[in-house]
Amino acid sequence: VIVDVVVAGYGAAGMAAAITAHDAGCEVLVLEKMPEDLAGGNTRVSGNVWFNPTDADLAKEYLRGLAGDYAIPEPLVECWATEVSGTTAWIEQRLAEAGADVERDDRDPVKGAFVPGLTPYAGSQRSRGVGEEIDEDAFEFGDLPGHECDDGFHHLGPQTGYARLWHLLRASLAARAIPVQFDARAVELVQASVGTVEGVVVERHGTRETILARRGTVLATGGFENDQELIRHHLRLPAALPWGSPGNTGDGLRLAQNAGAGLVHMHNFAGVMGLGVPELGCGMAGVPKGPGFLLVGRDARRFVDESLQDRHGKAMLHGRYEPFPAQMMFTIFDEATRLAGPIVVPFEQHNSGWPKAIRRYEWSHDNAAEIQRGWIQTGDTPAGLARKLGLDPAALQATVERYNAACAAGTDPEHGRPAEDLVPLGDGPIYGYAWGPVIMYTCGGPRKDEHARVLDPDGFPIRGLYCAGEISSTYSWAMAGGQMISDALAFGRVAGRSVAFGVPPDSTRASNVA
Ligand SMILES: Cc1cc2nc3c(=O)[nH]c(=O)nc-3n(C[C@H](O)[C@H](O)[C@H](O)COP(=O)(O)OP(=O)(O)OC[C@H]3O[C@@H](n4cnc5c(N)ncnc54)[C@H](O)[C@@H]3O)c2cc1C
Repeated sequence: VIVDVVVAGYGAAGMAAAITAHDAGCEVLVLEKMPEDLAGGNTRVSGNVWFNPTDADLAKEYLRGLAGDYAIPEPLVECWATEVSGTTAWIEQRLAEAGADVERDDRDPVKGAFVPGLTPYAGSQRSRGVGEEIDEDAFEFGDLPGHECDDGFHHLGPQTGYARLWHLLRASLAARAIPVQFDARAVELVQASVGTVEGVVVERHGTRETILARRGTVLATGGFENDQELIRHHLRLPAALPWGSPGNTGDGLRLAQNAGAGLVHMHNFAGVMGLGVPELGCGMAGVPKGPGFLLVGRDARRFVDESLQDRHGKAMLHGRYEPFPAQMMFTIFDEATRLAGPIVVPFEQHNSGWPKAIRRYEWSHDNAAEIQRGWIQTGDTPAGLARKLGLDPAALQATVERYNAACAAGTDPEHGRPAEDLVPLGDGPIYGYAWGPVIMYTCGGPRKDEHARVLDPDGFPIRGLYCAGEISSTYSWAMAGGQMISDALAFGRVAGRSVAFGVPPDSTRASNVA
């Protein structure tokens, strides 16, 4: 098979690349390793929220601040700011083409019925709704210069999730009759010589086929949230489970490495509080709903102010944004907190994540079913619970007693938990689970330039190979809500243009140093 462009991955990045290359006149083929009903990667089960800065210059400043001590090459900063500023306009073009036929608003998105009347909507943690007053304290990174460009979460329809953006992109590919092969896993890159990629080998139903790409190959295969070895090597975690798609296993990363790619910010990822459910093969985001809970380490001691606000995998700790949650921890809570509400909120309140959106797991309102299943352990006393969790019983008992004494005194000298959050753990049954973090997404992968070309370790482009999205996100450290999807769409479009039109000859070696 010979086409102009082959794209691996049917998420936001791959779809944006496919649409752009198609509209530039290319014959495009999309490969997706999952079966059709499970396809769509993290994009499908995400909040489907995007970021569209109000000012590209402020956005550059914002990105530099988010990167902190891990500077991003300036040409990438420039390209990112320009492109993400056009996210809403590009989505509006897709909406205009699709008319009303884009929203599928039910619990079976692939097969669901269309619901008309879809419009872009800017609701957010900041603005709470179009025209409503902005809550300045609700900025995720309100201390960083340039944050003013963030006017909140953008999404389709009245609430986030429901795979609405992904369905719009599906409709756009379908309207263009861009072929998508499902159950089609890119397993090898065809290399004419070192540094030159001519296509991919795809495996479908046990047979392999070579697909040559006249103009280029785009890797948009997502991150490595499901590869335990890569997680151990790069994220410093003994093990972790993803919140998103099981399809994201680092395939594209390995393909690019085999073609000689250099790597960037492999350490970076966004974890969320929650618990891993090995029998579902994924994790679920959530925190106890009542204030009566503690976080402890393997030594059964508290290590942090539990009221800490996490911002897409980072939190302000000791004067710096640090990864959080970033290590194994134990969540301990009392009976009042168990009864305060479900640790994992219902689908209707927060509609994203593989367990809810695809596996349809409904968490019980009082957490009782999950205790019954053994996902949450219970004991009559802290020491009894500690035995079940493999912690030192005396140490956990002492931790709870010290914490309760701090509550009585109205001050937490150890970790500075605010007085209003110092609610003692009551007597009676006590509960706990071991986990953290659940991986939302990884950020590192093959090094890319501002033309979305994959670069070798010396900064030279690998001919014929491009990448976009989570496989090689732009983010070296912190990132705010909506920015992953905007980055995936941005560099998907860049990859689509580069592969279709080529890259100017004066840009053969990338400035890969910040
Ligand atoms: C629960 C959750 C909520 C989120 N909410 C938001 C949000 O609201 N806003 C935001 O900006 N970000 C959000 N994110 C992050 C964001 O969804 C992703 O970073 C982004 O969608 C990634 O897009 P992508 O196209 O790069 O990858 P994906 O959408 O993950 O797509 C990658 C695709 O490649 C396929 N694939 C993998 N290997 C191969 C192979 N060898 N051959 C062929 N195909 C392959 C996968 O099956 C998958 O379909 C969220 C993530 C999660 C998990």
